[in-house]
Amino acid sequence: MSTLDPIVTSAMCIGCGLCESIAGAPNVQLILNEAGRERPVTRNPLSAETVAAVYAACPGVNVNGLEPERFSTEDALDQVWGHYAGMWRGFAGDPDVRHRGATGGVLSALGRYLLKSGRVDFVLHVSADPENPLRNIHTISNTPEDVLNAAGSRYGPAAPLRDFIKILERQQPFAFIAKPCDINAVRNLAKSDPRVDEYCKYLLTLVCGGASEMTKSWDLLDDWGLSEEELTLFRYRGYGNPGLTVAETKDGRRFETTYMDLWEDENKWNIQTRCKVCPDAIGEQADIAASDVWPGGGPTGEDAGWNGIIPRTQAGIDLLNAAIRDGAIIIDKELTPRDMDIFQPHQVRKKKAVWQRLKALRSTGHPALNTSGLRLDALSQTNEVIENAKEYGGTIERVKAGKFSE
Ligand SMILES: Cc1cc2nc3c(=O)[nH]c(=O)nc-3n(C[C@H](O)[C@H](O)[C@H](O)COP(=O)(O)OP(=O)(O)OC[C@H]3O[C@@H](n4cnc5c(N)ncnc54)[C@H](O)[C@@H]3O)c2cc1C
Ligand code: SF4
Ligand code: SF4
Repeated sequence: MSTLDPIVTSAMCIGCGLCESIAGAPNVQLILNEAGRERPVTRNPLSAETVAAVYAACPGVNVNGLEPERFSTEDALDQVWGHYAGMWRGFAGDPDVRHRGATGGVLSALGRYLLKSGRVDFVLHVSADPENPLRNIHTISNTPEDVLNAAGSRYGPAAPLRDFIKILERQQPFAFIAKPCDINAVRNLAKSDPRVDEYCKYLLTLVCGGASEMTKSWDLLDDWGLSEEELTLFRYRGYGNPGLTVAETKDGRRFETTYMDLWEDENKWNIQTRCKVCPDAIGEQADIAASDVWPGGGPTGEDAGWNGIIPRTQAGIDLLNAAIRDGAIIIDKELTPRDMDIFQPHQVRKKKAVWQRLKALRSTGHPALNTSGLRLDALSQTNEVIENAKEYGGTIERVKAGKFSE
């Protein structure tokens, strides 16, 4: 067994791609397996040094809170929502960006603003693969138009960090937009590689309910009687909030479904196992996190698109203030952590459940994530004893049923 395999076999891997970048593509290769998960396969023996570097940076091993030196001068702390320098509802100042973005286009607007204002040379993020638009690739946006072309949430596997070391080697300032676990990986790497803080100037994230296996999208294509090879476009959401899920084919056919229909049945979300024990799905280590703001956690129809916006660091609040000043972002309401609870009840539940789930994993001898600075133990203590027992016992049952093995 290769020494990276335990991260994968214990189902703690989320397929971010950083191990491939650290070890080098010929040695470790991320592949989309038959179960619809992107996972690293070790092709050549790895040195002990490489293995140690991967384990230190991997978000399937270590997930921590924001380092105190990154707190903003306006730092406040909420037990559930973490460190923040304010919370607002807002949207992209440009109506086209607001429309095409997943929610209100805030992440794309910030990426575009960073390029237009010369703060960064490029933005690293993910987009649909032009060769196969069901799948996702990591992409470098050099222009504001490039950023907009990659707008929208991609719910299948995405590996934005596959080339991260090579990107650091460019020695150019850049921004990174990705999921909270991808941000955790970058912050982990920053502890040993000073180039991260030197060049990766802004880390922007989305509040994340979980990443589906590719089986979710394959099932939808099956329902439509389509194959991946036929597609010219596959969009999960955006072009409205939430917008339709749309497929278009080479022979000119178009297929659509609503967000509500796609996500109605939670048993068919096919969420990756790592997400069930995610200690930081709210982007605690990012400079700015952006979310949906639907009361109750889901849409009841289409709307114009509003984001929850949570700057967390000094870099984040400075960027947000500048983007507001220059019209890239429009703010229409101040929010509180309790408003966020109403918009994200599933995040509150998970944040309070994760400690018991990880504790249960450890008790079976199963590898579990190392966490710090995320208040998980304290949050668990706010639950009723019976709730904690349910989370703990449920996880033990799932381990026995093989649900934590890949
Ligand atoms: C898997 C997933 C689960 C989510 N779950 C929730 C949730 O539970 N609650 C909630 O409030 N919001 C959730 N979101 C976030 C929400 O869909 C929007 O992304 C967020 O509100 C930002 O909207 P926006 O209009 O500013 O984004 P946009 O302006 O459209 O920008 C989106 C950015 O995210 C990047 N991106 C898209 N998909 C991925 C991916 N899979 N991995 C890495 N980067 C990606 C794109 O490259 C783009 O730069 C989720 C998003 C994803 C991808
Ligand atoms: S989570 Fe990322 S770094 Fe860790 S094993 Fe998976 S792909 Fe590699
Ligand atoms: S729930 Fe956590 S592990 Fe899963 S994709 Fe989102 S941030 Fe990553």
